Amino acid sequence: MAHYDYLIVGAGLTGAIFAHEACRQGKSCLVIDRRNHVAGNIYTEEIEGINVHVYGAHIFHTSLENVWRYVNCFAEFNNYVNSPIAYYKGEVYNMPFNMNTFSRMWGVVTPAEAKEKIAQQIAAEGIGEPRNLEEQALSLVGRDIFEKLVKGYTEKQWGRDCKDLPASIIRRLPCRFTYDNNYFNDRYQGIPMGGYTKMIERMLEGVEVRCGVEYRDLVAEQPDIAARTIYCGPIDGFYDYRLGTLEYRSLRFESETLDEENHQGVAVVNYNEREVPWTRIIEHKHFEFGTQPKTIITREYSANWHPGDEPYYPINDARNSALYERYRELADKEGSVVFAGRLGGYKYYDMDKAIAAAFDLVEDELGVRL
Ligand SMILES: Cc1cc2nc3c(=O)[nH]c(=O)nc-3n(C[C@H](O)[C@H](O)[C@H](O)COP(=O)(O)OP(=O)(O)OC[C@H]3O[C@@H](n4cnc5c(N)ncnc54)[C@H](O)[C@@H]3O)c2cc1C
Repeated sequence: MAHYDYLIVGAGLTGAIFAHEACRQGKSCLVIDRRNHVAGNIYTEEIEGINVHVYGAHIFHTSLENVWRYVNCFAEFNNYVNSPIAYYKGEVYNMPFNMNTFSRMWGVVTPAEAKEKIAQQIAAEGIGEPRNLEEQALSLVGRDIFEKLVKGYTEKQWGRDCKDLPASIIRRLPCRFTYDNNYFNDRYQGIPMGGYTKMIERMLEGVEVRCGVEYRDLVAEQPDIAARTIYCGPIDGFYDYRLGTLEYRSLRFESETLDEENHQGVAVVNYNEREVPWTRIIEHKHFEFGTQPKTIITREYSANWHPGDEPYYPINDARNSALYERYRELADKEGSVVFAGRLGGYKYYDMDKAIAAAFDLVEDELGVRL
């Protein structure tokens, strides 16, 4: 006889939403996570009164009305608007590329002047069919923007020269001809005041949660622990990597507490020179307009992924997509295990899309439409 209706593997966004809704429907649930904390990759840890985004900066943005309404039941969101800065050899530019960027770069004032400048630069390159990423970018935005704001960052991200990367990586480099530094186009945006961990803890109120517990160990001891399992861990790991390992792109973070109130004046600064080894510096307090006497910064480095490393971004190329499909076929034959979340589906999801997918899961499993 199973102890629980549901075993939920993973206390991240996906697992927490499912657990919350299943408990509301009177189901008995146990949530486990192999980490020693809840919240998965959106985990924030309070240090010096500042909520540090431990697994990378997370900015909530969505145009999905039902998702926005839902998250606001568990957190109050502030009015943070992501307006990152790009640093290149002592110069700073606004991102995404907009009239502030163009004005700083060329001294232009009107959209017509900016468009003309970009068109001249594109024409000067005389590129027909782009053969690589460098040619693609040059044919989209011209030399200045490419050299200062695309080249170094992209090369650090991919660990290769832009000439050696396929043109297909960049399809568009959107230019905005308004003085608008808001990085996202979504209707709603913000950061949960008090951190993401608190938001997840509220979802998990009244739910039995055990941290530091590995799925494999638990079911080895208690194979019948639950009637059904929602598995938000890596799908290939569930099958002991028997068909091969799905690959990821990884990141490395180096955090530092500084004895100063305000280090860079903005939450996100991209470093666009290839010679600077990190890709970004995050100053966490600015996500919540913090006024603490100290500050915490995190340097973010692009890193190759090796089995056992933290899986960050799935690599959806032909090899990995085909391998995932083979795991998916195995998964489809499972009677009582459902794979979910970014790792179960081997898919990059922004938080709002992860929540929307969790809503679908709730509907399929519990018959409730959120
Ligand atoms: C670097 C980075 C930056 C991002 N920034 C943004 C952003 O700015 N805005 C945005 O909207 N989205 C962002 N995202 C996406 C966001 O992180 C995801 O949408 C979200 O974390 C998905 O939640 P999840 O519950 O599916 O997965 P996770 O948060 O990964 O949760 C899965 C949990 O399962 C646990 N687990 C796995 N296997 C086992 C096992 N065998 N036994 C026990 N426990 C297990 C893990 O420890 C983990 O805690 C970013 C993602 C990355 C990688």
